[in-house]
This record gives sequence, structure tokens and C-alpha cells, in this order.
Amino acid sequence: MNEYIELANLIFPNVTETIEDLEKRYPPRNLNKDALITRFAPSPTGFLHTGSLFMTLVNYRFAKQTNGLFYIRLEDTDQKREIKGTGITLLNELKEFNIIPDEGYLGDHEEGKYAPYIQSKRANIYDIVIKELIKRGLAYPCFMSSEELEELRRMQEKKKIRPGCYGKYAKYHSITPKEAIERIKNNEPYVIRFKSSGNELNKISVYDEIRGKLELTENDLDIIIRKKDGLPTYHFAHLVDDHFMRTNLVIRGEEWLPSLPIHYELFKTMNWQFPKYAHTPTVQKVSDTGGRRKLSKRYDEEAAVSYFFNYGYPKTGLIEYLLTIINSNFEEWRLANPYTNNNEFKLSFDKFSSDGALFDMDKVKNICKEVLSKMTKKEITDETYTWASTYDLELKQLIDRDRSYFEEIMNIEREIEKPRKDYEKYSDIKESILFFYDDYYNEMLKEELPFNSLISKEDTLNVLNTFKKENDPSLNETDWFNNLKRIATLCGFCDNVKEYKKNKEAYKGHIGDVASIIRITMCTKTKSPNLYNILQILGKDRYEKRIEQVIAKIK
Ligand code: GLU
Repeated sequence: MNEYIELANLIFPNVTETIEDLEKRYPPRNLNKDALITRFAPSPTGFLHTGSLFMTLVNYRFAKQTNGLFYIRLEDTDQKREIKGTGITLLNELKEFNIIPDEGYLGDHEEGKYAPYIQSKRANIYDIVIKELIKRGLAYPCFMSSEELEELRRMQEKKKIRPGCYGKYAKYHSITPKEAIERIKNNEPYVIRFKSSGNELNKISVYDEIRGKLELTENDLDIIIRKKDGLPTYHFAHLVDDHFMRTNLVIRGEEWLPSLPIHYELFKTMNWQFPKYAHTPTVQKVSDTGGRRKLSKRYDEEAAVSYFFNYGYPKTGLIEYLLTIINSNFEEWRLANPYTNNNEFKLSFDKFSSDGALFDMDKVKNICKEVLSKMTKKEITDETYTWASTYDLELKQLIDRDRSYFEEIMNIEREIEKPRKDYEKYSDIKESILFFYDDYYNEMLKEELPFNSLISKEDTLNVLNTFKKENDPSLNETDWFNNLKRIATLCGFCDNVKEYKKNKEAYKGHIGDVASIIRITMCTKTKSPNLYNILQILGKDRYEKRIEQVIAKIK
């Protein structure tokens, strides 16, 4: 028997299937030729990072817009780094953004014909391929001990030479099968390495969908493909999984760009179709010193997608913000199509900037304001309710008391051509509307009211009494305001601010002061949504009662 075959059988006595069997079990997908098959391949090492959401969104949208397929694969081969239970959290967080995979690892189960989608369950599949490589003399067992490797690393560092196992440093590159068999029979521990035939003096030419044509140095590293624990490294799992899951576009973070020559050589050696690649820019932030740094789990709260959930930023707002950093023409599209669902926007690689994606929280906030202002009263009520059900039970109860009352409150300056941008997140809402509820109002009334100290108590009381008598809630907004001016004049206030400024002594104050007295009386605050709407929503009985309560309080 050929010695390579003997070696392969010694290492994998139980592996009987072949690559041909795998090709049959996982056939090319039956999709249109332009359909893109993409995936998100998280390692279960924590929460959903905002940068991962960015990348997943790109993967998901390209699959959807080409009638392709998007799946999720759990990359848990680095079991030392794994945090149990985080896989399902990631999936649930994606679901919040309506990013629902067509197949793959779905948190509590797996779905799809290309299963298993959890790498630690695929050891047998990797072994089938590795066995074949060993038979063909393209992979070999390496017996270097960790001490030897550490020494190699130190020496390379000291001499300032490129680190790694290549050329003369790949000690077992040319080991004969005979020697390997002997050492294995002697129970010497080993890993399996890929036998590179590359040369660092050669260049390869590869195409990246975002970066265009790239000239890269050929790989010559004998990378580990099977670790001592029997699991593959990222590179080898990428080769086998993306081939047999039939991914045709690998969209992943730019930190993988330097390993592209390794992947190129692996695919070439197998004679498998090289997928398309797009390496997305890292999501960065302007640092305190003005430079740029990676958006980091450790320093930035907004690096965790859960941050946006906790505060109740509208999810569409975050997605729209990410779309603005993914494609430079998104904002223009949004202006031209203010009410169209962003799913209609087609992503393109040529509008992608490869120059670091800068995360700008102020812009996120502005977009969220915009998004919230464009919701109908029903939409914002439903969304606020969903958010409050998890994050603010007091607010949920307020909505439960009377949903249509809450909708009316939310409808202030909404569903009009230029809606008011009051809120940036759901957690802003409660504080600004509590006064609409009498029990809360009564509590708030116990505090001192912020009336302007330059206006005397008598004048304040006079304004309140006159308003109570003269206000007509049946008027439309313009007429109501004219009537308020009339009330101001009756009380000795000027109905025009400019006029007032020219001749302050002649007046008790101006129309703004009158409105402010009414506002404070209704809301206990100097800032509020539109006063006319507040009075309409409270209705005559309740606003009159509030006037009486305030009069009694300040008298
Ligand atoms: N598990 C890898 C990571 O989290 C996946 C990279 C890829 O998409 O290929 O970085």
C-alpha cells in the first residue's frame, strides 16, 4: 500500500467517506445564477457587536436583493474563547432587526440540508477532507512541541523575520510517511498542517468586491488545519464549510484580508470554485485624541447592540444609520423617498467606502429622530408599547390604561407634512408626557412651579382667571392663538414680542409670557409639546380644573 494512504488510515481509521460523498450530500444549490449565497458566521464569544450587525446587514441584504440565500453558521472551534449561551442571544438580537436567516444555526435548533451548521459538530466532515489531503501528500502531521514553537516565535521576533511555520522553519514539511507513522505509533502528540507549495516571492491576483483587484503575496505558510483537540482552525473550516454550504460570496471583516492568500491556496489545491469575497471596513470611532480607533466592546457602550435596545432607539433608525455608512448614496435615496421602506434600497459594492466606517452617535440620534417623527400615531404607540413591555413597565401601564388617549398624545404634530422631531428614543417619551395623566400631574404639582419671577403673582393670577373665562377650545389653532393674543392684551401684556422689546415699561410682559403661564399650569414645566394640542387633549373640564388647582396653590 502507498505509504501516504497507510498514514492517512492510521490517523483516521474510522473515516470511510470521501470527498465525492460530501459533494453528493451537499450538492450545489438550485438557485439562479445571479443569486448570492451569503452567511453570518459568528463565534459565540459574547453579545452582538454593532460592527457585526453592520456586516450581517450587508450579507443579508445582498442575499435578499438577488433572491439568494442567507444562513448562519456558528463558529465555535475555539472552545477556549466560547461563552456558553451567547449563540442564541446573537440570533435573538438579529431577529429584532428582522434579520431572519433562511437556514442554518437558529439558536435553539438547526434548519437546512447543509447541516450541521455548528462547526464543533462537523469534525467528521473536516476529517474526510484532511484524510484525502494526507493521502495526496498535501498535509502532514507536525510534531513540534509548544516549547519548540515558542522558541521559533521568539527567535523570529528577535531577528525581526516574518513569524510562522514556513520554508525552513516548517520542521516536518518533508517528513516521510514512514517516519510520521513511527512517531504516531510512539504516541507523540501532533497537529496536522497544510503543506504549502507557495513562494513568498510570487504574487497572486485576487478580486475583492469592495476593494477591487488586489495583488497579494502568495502564501507559503504551512498552517495548522487540525488542532490537537481534533477541531479545525478558522482557515480550514472556512474552506470546507463555505465550499460545502455553497457560499458564493463571503462578506467578512477586513481583519481577514491578510489571510486571503491562505484561502486562495487552499481552494486552488482542492480545485474548488473560489468564492467571491468582500472585506468590509471595520467600524471605527473618533478617539478622544482625534484619531480613529475600533468601536470597542471594552470602551464604547454603543459597541453592543443591546445598548440601543435598552434605551429604546428605534431599530429602523439604527439600520438606516448603518445603511448610510454602508452605501454613500443611501442618504440621497432617503431624501428622494422619504416614506419608502428601506428594504427597497438596493445595496451596491461600488458605493461602498473601504476607508473605515466611522460610527457617529450624533448622526444615529438624528436619524432616529427622523424615523420616530415619520411614524404614524399607531406605529409609534405600538413600538413604544413593545419597548416598554420589556424596559419600562410603568410606561406600559400608562398605555394600557387607555391606548387611544396615548395615541392622541403621540399624535401631537405628527402625521403632517413636517412632523415634529420630539423624540430620539422611546425612553424620551415618558418624562415628556406624564403630565397628561392626572395622578402624575397632581404629584408634579406638589413641586414648586417654574413661573417667571419677573411677573408678579397678581399678574399671573389675572392671566389664569382671564384665560379661564375667555379661552374658547372650539377655535382652530390660528384663531385660538389670536384669541390668546387678545387675552394677553386684556391682562396688560403685549401681543407682539418685538413691540414689547421696544417699550418694555408699557407692559406687564408679552404674549410668550402668557403662553408660558398657561403651559406651566397645564404641564408644570416650561417646555412641552404644542400647547394648543395639549389643551385640546385635556379638554375644557380638565384644563379648567388645572387652572383652579394652580390658582389655589399660588394664591
Ligand atoms: N468566525 C469568524 C469571525 O467571527 C467569521 C469570519 C467569516 O465571516 O468568515 O470573525
